[in-house]
Amino acid sequence: MDNAKPCGGAIPLCMVGEFDLPLDIIDRRVTKMKMISPSNIAVDIGRTLKPHEYIGMVRREVLDIYLRDRAAAAGASVVNGLFIKMDKPVEKDAPYVLYYNAYSGKSGSTGERVRIEVDAVIGADGANSRVAKAIDAGEYEYAIAFQERIKIPDEKMKYYENLAEMYVGDDVSPDFYGWVFPKCDHVAVGTGTVTHKPDIKKFQLATRLRARDKIEGGKVIRVEAHPIPEHPRPRRVSERVALVGDAAGYVTKCSGEGIYFAAKSGRMCAEAIVEGSGNGRRMIDEGDLRNYIKKWDSTYWPTYKVLDVLQKVFYRSNPAREAFVEMCSDEYVQKMTFDSYLYKKVAPGNPFEGLKLAVNTIGSLVRANALRNEMAKL
Ligand SMILES: Cc1cc2nc3c(=O)[nH]c(=O)nc-3n(C[C@H](O)[C@H](O)[C@H](O)COP(=O)(O)OP(=O)(O)OC[C@H]3O[C@@H](n4cnc5c(N)ncnc54)[C@H](O)[C@@H]3O)c2cc1C
Repeated sequence: MDNAKPCGGAIPLCMVGEFDLPLDIIDRRVTKMKMISPSNIAVDIGRTLKPHEYIGMVRREVLDIYLRDRAAAAGASVVNGLFIKMDKPVEKDAPYVLYYNAYSGKSGSTGERVRIEVDAVIGADGANSRVAKAIDAGEYEYAIAFQERIKIPDEKMKYYENLAEMYVGDDVSPDFYGWVFPKCDHVAVGTGTVTHKPDIKKFQLATRLRARDKIEGGKVIRVEAHPIPEHPRPRRVSERVALVGDAAGYVTKCSGEGIYFAAKSGRMCAEAIVEGSGNGRRMIDEGDLRNYIKKWDSTYWPTYKVLDVLQKVFYRSNPAREAFVEMCSDEYVQKMTFDSYLYKKVAPGNPFEGLKLAVNTIGSLVRANALRNEMAKL
C-alpha cells in the first residue's frame, strides 16, 4: 500500500465538497491554465473562474492514504494484499471465495496465501483489473500515459504556483496532450497516447522540450507510467460482482480524467448495495448492481459523449489543434468548459452564445484546413 498511482492528480472542485476532502491534502489550487498550441501560441484559460473556484492538484500518495485511513476509521477492514483469484458461488446466495496474498510483514515479499468469503465484490483494482478478468468483463482500448515528477528550482516553481499547462501537437502526442501540473514542491510533466504507444518516450521528451525554459535545471525525482482506459468494458456487472473506476473504464476522452469518476462510481455502487440489501439485511442480486450502472450511465453518458466528439474533431491534426486552442480563448467556451469540469454537470448553454460559438468554431476549422493546405503545398 506504499505505492503511488501514476497520475497527474488534477481533481475538480466538486470532488472536494462531495467527498469532504480536507484542504491540506490539496497541494495547489490552480486558477490559471495555459493551453499551448502546436506553434506555441499560448491561450490563458481560467479568466472566467470565480474567486472561490479552482482545480485541485493532489499527489495520489497523499489522497489515497487519506481516503484509505478514513474508510478504516469508518469501519472498513483494510488488508494489505494482492488479490489473486476468486471462486464463484456454487449455489444462489452462497459466498464468493477470494484468494489473496497478504503482506503482513511476517511472510516475506511473496506474502501468505489467504482466503476470504464475501457476499459481493466491487472491483476497484484499476486498469489491469483481475476482478474484471475473473468475470470475463472483456477488454478495452487503452492509452499509455507517462509522467516524470521534476523538482525544479524554487524561482521556477513560482511560475507554476497556481498554474498548469497543457501542450497539444503531433510532437507531444498524436491523440492526447502533454501537461505540466504543479505539486507541493515539484511539477509533474507527462503525456499519453493510444495510437503510438512505442513512441511514448519520444513524446515525453518533446513535452519536456516544449516546457524547457520553465523547467530548466530540474531534477527528475520519479518516473511513472500506467495504462488509461479509453472506454467502458463490455461488461461491468456479473451477478454479485461490479466494476468501478478504471476497472470499469470510466476515464473521459480529451482530458483523461478519472479520479472523480472512480470515487463517484465507487460511491454509487456502494449505495446500490446498501439500498438493495436493505442496509445489509438481505442478499443482493445482479438487479441491485444494475441499478448502479443505470444511474451511472444516465448521469454521465452525455459528458463522455461530448468529450469523445471533441477529441475526434480537435485532436486529429495540428491545424485542428490550432483551431482548438484558438477556440479556447473564447470566454464563453472557457465558462462552459470550466463549469462542466468543476461541477460535473453539462452546463446549460446560452443559445445566442452557442450559435456564435458554432460559427466561430467553423471559422477556426476552415482557417485551420486552409493552413493545412498551404502547409501541404509548401
Ligand atoms: C500518468 C497519468 C496521469 C493521470 N492524470 C490524471 C489527472 O490529472 N486527473 C484525473 O482525474 N485522472 C488522471 N488519470 C487517471 C486516474 O489516475 C485514474 O482514472 C484513477 O486513478 C482511477 O482510480 P481507480 O481507483 O479506479 O484505479 P487506480 O487508481 O489505478 O487504483 C487501483 C488500486 O487497486 C490496486 N490493485 C490493483 N490490482 C490489485 C490486486 N490484484 N490486488 C490488490 N490491489 C490491487 C492498486 O494498487 C491501486 O491501489 C491519470 C492517469 C495516468 C496513468
